Amino acid sequence: MGKYYDEKTSAEVGKYGHRVIEDNKDTLYDAGLASIAYLAQYPTTIADDSKKPPRPKFTAKLMKASLEVVAISKKNYILVVDGLWWDTADATDREKEIMHCLLHIKQVIKDSEVVWKMKKHDVEEFSVILAKYYDYIHKDGEPNEGN
Ligand SMILES: [Zn+2]
Repeated sequence: MGKYYDEKTSAEVGKYGHRVIEDNKDTLYDAGLASIAYLAQYPTTIADDSKKPPRPKFTAKLMKASLEVVAISKKNYILVVDGLWWDTADATDREKEIMHCLLHIKQVIKDSEVVWKMKKHDVEEFSVILAKYYDYIHKDGEPNEGN
């Protein structure tokens, strides 16, 4: 079976998305204005003779909707999670990754028209550094910078 989107899990991801926006109204103000589709993607089934266990290809990602998608669905963004990752992640992990995606949403008013953009990270860092220096980064209880 090829790539597919599970309806029930997608609805669950949507519930998380709405709650994360609700819990972070100020930080995720632009995301609160956007219309977002949530999808849980499951990967191609690994062949029976494969010795490797299935692994998630990614955690979560945000895509700006194409003009065609906007025209038929009125959605501004599509947030896709890897179903394998989602099924094994805990609530905090899910919220963190969803919040990361939603922080990329940016609304700009240009010539009195709404334009949706992808906001860039304010901090870039290697994940090994973040993992190794976790205590330093979180010394005040909260990360000093984004992740
Ligand atoms: Zn990002």
